[in-house]
Amino acid sequence: MIQMEKMKTEQLLETADKSVLFTAKRPNIVMERGKGMYMWDTDGNRYLDFVGGWAVASLGHSPAALQEALTHQSATLVHASPGYYNRPMIEFAELLTSVSGMDKAFFASSGAEANESAIKLARKHGTVNLDGAYEIITLTNSFHGRSLATMSATGKAQWKELFAPKVDGFKHVPINDLDACFAAVTNQTCAIMVELVQGEGGVHCVDEAYLFGLRKICDMYGMLLIFDEIQTGFGRTGKLFAYEHYGIQPDVMTLGKGIGAGFPLSAMLTKSKYDLFEPGEQGGTYTGSPLAMAVGYAVLTELLEQNVTNNAKLQGKYIVSGLQELSREFPISEIRGKGLLLAFDVPEGAAPELAAICLREGLLINSPTPSTIRLVPPLIVTQKDCDEMLSILRRAFKQLTLIKVSSI
Ligand SMILES: *Cc1c(COP(=O)(O)O)cnc(C)c1O
Repeated sequence: MIQMEKMKTEQLLETADKSVLFTAKRPNIVMERGKGMYMWDTDGNRYLDFVGGWAVASLGHSPAALQEALTHQSATLVHASPGYYNRPMIEFAELLTSVSGMDKAFFASSGAEANESAIKLARKHGTVNLDGAYEIITLTNSFHGRSLATMSATGKAQWKELFAPKVDGFKHVPINDLDACFAAVTNQTCAIMVELVQGEGGVHCVDEAYLFGLRKICDMYGMLLIFDEIQTGFGRTGKLFAYEHYGIQPDVMTLGKGIGAGFPLSAMLTKSKYDLFEPGEQGGTYTGSPLAMAVGYAVLTELLEQNVTNNAKLQGKYIVSGLQELSREFPISEIRGKGLLLAFDVPEGAAPELAAICLREGLLINSPTPSTIRLVPPLIVTQKDCDEMLSILRRAFKQLTLIKVSSI
């Protein structure tokens, strides 16, 4: 066995360069430990985390509920095989369907897989009920994952030619333009798939009238309405699911990110009448694995018992008012979002620099575009954490070179 000596930061970074496939620009720090709202790097620097593990660490870092579920279930049964039911699978499916307004659950490990499953179900619905219709309408600027089909569903302009040829059968239409969506419907359309708040696309919400219209179009033609709630679900927007803001129900809903609070877990939920797969048509080695199911059950129970969703609503409002105050002094515009899925705009090109300054000052924030800052902290964030975030942000704005140049 190769014995690895505990490497120092510099050596870790050199080794990363040598051994980790380059797929992302990452800052020259190495994360080592997390607790609640904070992470620590290998030099012992502390970071207040408003990236929240990419909208994943809903209960903060290393929450006790998750640790306990992992400890207990790993000593009981880790993996039973997808060929058998197991106790946590049934218990979690029952709890999840009872709180979500849906009837049936399929489980996977990542958001992309949950969306693949929704795409397959929509095509199956097309085959069985709509004369072989297979096209799915999605939105420009949307994000649905990185598998080939979900990349094809995604409406990111930069991905248009990437890894061609794309999976056939996706049409992209602009958000909140009902006429454009209506015009894209043909007798080959089997579903419409949308995020209620586009997360990766820069935090843009669908309007109520638009969503109502989509529901109507789907009902008119018997098409499935699919909500990708992978980022918006599990309390993130100040409701348990974002569709509750609109009072409009989907036929299929996909969940990921916060559902496992850091453990790889995702789900596709649907109504009984769309329980359409024949045995063997959909599955996966890790579907409904006992360890993941026990985590899901514990996370959802904790979320409900601690009323974390309400905290997301309250702290979201607090952050928005803090940002509004900052915007009187600094070039902050378009403060938007719901609950703790928030964003604001800064002058074009300033967002990455601002995020880099914040990192040096001990705050993790994310810039999904060169002019947008996104805030997606753990849902357990307190007012004190928000105050600390706002004061670091203020310091960072004062150091921003782009603004200094433009204000001369
Ligand atoms: C993150 C995300 C996905 C993809 O989830 P993965 O777990 O990265 O596969 C899909 N849809 C939305 C809305 C997301 O935010």
